[in-house]
Amino acid sequence: MSLSDQELERYARHIVLPQVGGVGQRKLKEARIAVVGAGGIGSAVIPALAGAGVGQLTIIDDDVVELGNLHRQPLFRERDAGYSKADLALQFVHRLNHFVKATPIQQRIGTENAQQLLTGYDLVIDGSDNFATRLAVSDACVGIGVPLLSAAAVQFQGQVGLFRGKPCYRCFVGDAFDAGDCDNCAELGVLGALTGTVGNFAALLAINFIVGIGDDPAGKLHLFTGEKLSWREIRIPADPACGACGSA
Ligand SMILES: [Zn+2]
Repeated sequence: MSLSDQELERYARHIVLPQVGGVGQRKLKEARIAVVGAGGIGSAVIPALAGAGVGQLTIIDDDVVELGNLHRQPLFRERDAGYSKADLALQFVHRLNHFVKATPIQQRIGTENAQQLLTGYDLVIDGSDNFATRLAVSDACVGIGVPLLSAAAVQFQGQVGLFRGKPCYRCFVGDAFDAGDCDNCAELGVLGALTGTVGNFAALLAINFIVGIGDDPAGKLHLFTGEKLSWREIRIPADPACGACGSA
């Protein structure tokens, strides 16, 4: 897949980087990424990936914009209240970069449809706001063999990890959270600037992964503490008894 003159100009500051170059920019153009959730994490991930020239971006969200979203979701404006987040995110991507083929899916993703919705992508980025959805997305990704980048932010804490095969996100979380939205931002609160920090970190990790920059990121969890302004990294062990990726 070659780059047009306009794309070469557009991505010049990527292409000049030795770690990216023309080869890396073409990998981004060839990449197909599904983003689950156009919320706080999605509001950082979607513009970053669209700007970076990811070829295909699918945005899955069944929700509409509410005023209480605006402190952390700069994809949207006051006048967008009541309108579909997936559709508005599509319009944002089109205005930013017409080279990106964006597809909105206004469906709630769950155990019954996740495999069907997520098949055919090089990477799934999950920025949903509850454990039940995250686990359904993770199980589907394990089942269809698609790498998953999971990103979450609540209160002052953020976490980002890439999972490919074993260990999976369920190895980390366990089975206790399948039912219910037990970590919902509405109840616990979240600092607006935190979701942008965590979402942009996730976008950077996604770009590194697609282009092949740095060490293999799989199986590591990056944890951010907003109060201390610091990141730390832990390695997630595979759980042999995991209901998704284990041998049981
Ligand atoms: Zn697992």
